[in-house]
Amino acid sequence: MGVHEFRQSKDEYLRWTDEICRENRRALRLLWRALIPLGVVNMFAQAVIAGPVVSVAQRALILCYGVLLALAEHFLLPRETRHATALLHLACAPVFLLAVLLGTVWDPVHEATTILLVLVVLPIFTLDRLPRMAGVMGLWLALFIVLSRAMKPEEIFFVDLLHGVEFYCAALIVYALTTQVRMKYLRNLETVAYERDHDRELGCLNRKALLARLGGCAGRPLVLLVAGLEQERLYRDYFGSAMADALLKFFAETLCSVFGGEAVFRFNETEFACVGDGADAETFLAKAERCRDALHGFRWEDVSVVAGMAAGYATATPASAEEAQNVLRLANIYAHKARHMGRDKTFGGAFSETALSSSIHKSVLLDEANNLENNSLTGLPDLSSFISHVDVLLTNVVDQSQEPVVGFVKLNHLRDYNSRFGYEKGDALLMETAELLRRAYPNRYICHITGGQFCVLCYRGEAERGIAALREGQRRGETDIDVACRAGFAAYTGAESAISLLDRATSAYESIAASKERYFRFYDSELGAELAFKEYVASHVDEAIASGWLKVYYQPIIRAITGRICNEEALCRWEDPKYGLLQPGRFIPVLEEHNLIHKVDLFVVRQVLSETVRRRELGIPVVPVSVNLSRRDFEERDMVREISALADAAGCDRSLLKIEITESAFVANQELLKNELRRFHADGFDIWMDDFGSEYSTLNLMQELDFDLIKIDMKFMENFTPDGRNYIIVSKIIDMARQLGISTLIEGVETREQLRLMQVLGCEKIQGFLINKPNPLDVIVRRVRSGIALPFEEPESVAYYEKVGRVNLNEPMASADGKKHLLAADIMPAGVVEARDGKLFCLRGTNAFLRRMERWGYLSAEEDDTKIRELTETPPQWNALVGQCMETEDWISFCTKTAAGHAVVVYTRRLGGVSWLGGTALLVVLLPEVEL
Ligand code: C2E
Ligand code: MG
Ligand code: MG
Repeated sequence: MGVHEFRQSKDEYLRWTDEICRENRRALRLLWRALIPLGVVNMFAQAVIAGPVVSVAQRALILCYGVLLALAEHFLLPRETRHATALLHLACAPVFLLAVLLGTVWDPVHEATTILLVLVVLPIFTLDRLPRMAGVMGLWLALFIVLSRAMKPEEIFFVDLLHGVEFYCAALIVYALTTQVRMKYLRNLETVAYERDHDRELGCLNRKALLARLGGCAGRPLVLLVAGLEQERLYRDYFGSAMADALLKFFAETLCSVFGGEAVFRFNETEFACVGDGADAETFLAKAERCRDALHGFRWEDVSVVAGMAAGYATATPASAEEAQNVLRLANIYAHKARHMGRDKTFGGAFSETALSSSIHKSVLLDEANNLENNSLTGLPDLSSFISHVDVLLTNVVDQSQEPVVGFVKLNHLRDYNSRFGYEKGDALLMETAELLRRAYPNRYICHITGGQFCVLCYRGEAERGIAALREGQRRGETDIDVACRAGFAAYTGAESAISLLDRATSAYESIAASKERYFRFYDSELGAELAFKEYVASHVDEAIASGWLKVYYQPIIRAITGRICNEEALCRWEDPKYGLLQPGRFIPVLEEHNLIHKVDLFVVRQVLSETVRRRELGIPVVPVSVNLSRRDFEERDMVREISALADAAGCDRSLLKIEITESAFVANQELLKNELRRFHADGFDIWMDDFGSEYSTLNLMQELDFDLIKIDMKFMENFTPDGRNYIIVSKIIDMARQLGISTLIEGVETREQLRLMQVLGCEKIQGFLINKPNPLDVIVRRVRSGIALPFEEPESVAYYEKVGRVNLNEPMASADGKKHLLAADIMPAGVVEARDGKLFCLRGTNAFLRRMERWGYLSAEEDDTKIRELTETPPQWNALVGQCMETEDWISFCTKTAAGHAVVVYTRRLGGVSWLGGTALLVVLLPEVEL
């Protein structure tokens, strides 16, 4: 082993000359530090052993030399020198010489000691080849032996000789062992340095070494080639890792043998950078071609694999290390480009800042991403590749200063388009949209999520322009189905993931999806707050119910004839500790969206029932209350069964609850609701249709579904004048409903004029702020007790007034079976008069009827519209007539004389029933006046 070590050390001495010099230079400093104490010890040893034979001056010489050497080392010797080994030998020589003299010439009577000590100690300082050290020490030993022979007696010479040889051998052994350890240390240093600069797997230089190398390239012509193995992944998957590793190794070895090992650096998994420092581009590229040819000849276990090489290069004379690195970046970008140009391509050119900053790299990377896992129809990547790429692109590639944004783009009404024109046309539309998107956002990463949904990664400045251009492109192929795209965008601010950006963009889109004016929106703090509010509502509905934040308010509904409260509508409010009082318009749609609305609606039903019981206990009048149900309720729960059970459990008659379902609910899911209506009816509940006339298919619904009452939408109350269009529409709705046997209610009555007109039109029930706003039960109790509330209708008179209310005064003579007694009378003024306690009261009347009554002086005009007005000063025949009517339900006619002296023929008929005050209703029709 020793021989082997020595032989090896010969080469190592040559390889590590610099390291050895550095070690020996350090040893010079250590030498004088060792010599000074050694000199002191030697002085005392000489004084004891040699006594007066050696003079004090001679004994102190080694110490003095140590001090001299310290001064010389500190002041004269350079810190770094290539001659450190020689200098060390030189520095040791005087010590050897003094030691020889001390043991021979200056003390011929004693056996030598110092030289023996020095012979063992001094060589350890020096790091040199063993033969040389053995030679140098042999020379000093020889000098010592010669002088000892000449100067000393024979027996002392023999002892010196034996000691000399013995110590020489010991010194050699000590030297060999210490040197071996020191050489091992150097070898370790070298291994560390090697691994720092070399790729462990392939043995060539690595990226770190490349950067160090580029640091030294400033000011000289430079060619940088980035060469990559094509389709390495494919080979790995197809032939296995062993083959792919062998191919990679072959590629690295080929590059190293052609360009030289010191010029090839592993750049990443499959790419290598070749540095041509001072080389000309042409020869460099010719070498690249040779490598490519060699690669084509690769064989592995009888399989010949023609692997391709994509290469990019850039040439420059970089002014600095940073610029050299930019040259490398450009070469890398060109390598990507070459990879996308086809197989075995080389692409490159001279470096310039503009070439680098022209953002080619973005488009190349985006191209690459765009070509991965593409949607087979549009050729765009799918959502999963968008998510995985966008995170990388956002953090590494995109220009943050331009505010990157993720956009969600959706094609409208694709489903309608497909069902109208077929899937083939639908696919064509999708492909066309994808193409328009590519043109609207050139070089940007676009993905096809599914159906008509796309997403895009672009910059804020391009977002709006892109979607506008896309829509413009769409307009050229316009159809009558509006397929125009809308978009939502969310800006990247440095922390968001691709998924969360897409979520936000989708929310931004959804917020304008139904808008007619807006076709794009950025996600902003306002929208964020809106979403946070929705989230809050959805997650706190249970708490709101349990903690009493949810309250039921009651809005009164009056009967048009009597002005008494005949019903109330239960409307809920959310008194939130964080957001304050929330109107249903804010939280109901959110709960509907989250399929949670049934919780509120069932709560309202429970609350109405329990408050009905409480009202009875408090002695407050009770009228049937209508509750609002949403379409979603029926999708989530069996509302019919649950509401029936709740009413029974509360001990309330089912007629006390009216079920309001908004018209729009029927538009979406008619079949389901039709069935539920039947079940409600079978269980004894009345169904009211809310917001009648607010949707399109209103009349259709009238025909299909069986309602008990329609609540005419409050939008008709806008501009409600007798000569306006709404007036005509409402009057026709009321007529139609009456003919179908459906009651009518108008919502949103805010003025006396509106009330009067509705009474004239014969609308049975009135709801609106004119009557009262919705109030909680305590307020109602207070109002009733203080006597300021409107009177409530008596339960016993409901049937009577309903009959009175349903008579169609426009066709008063129409009988229930549709046959008419007197067709001409249908265009005559008609009204309903109640006979009670010998007096007559006007319950209802057409406009013409009321005007005539006023003209004849029977009715005063100024009275309160909500109260029943008495007919005064009527001729005595009118009262006699009442008696006749009591005997029959047929028409009776008589002639009466008006105050102006005109004769009028009056037809009248008893409507049946008796009011709770003992009154009887008479239908009265007036024929034209005749001058007598
Ligand atoms: P709706 O059922 O059509 O209720 C009528 C709405 O019009 C109520 O608004 C009422 O306060 C308001 N209103 C009444 N008279 C007038 C008036 O003269 N002028 C004006 N401008 N408005 C008037 P509210 O309470 O804000 O309720 C809005 C909608 O929220 C309701 O419309 C109903 O669709 C829904 N809603 C309310 N409570 C519930 C509930 O418990 N469950 C469900 N599913 N929906 C409810
Ligand atoms: Mg309602
Ligand atoms: Mg309504």
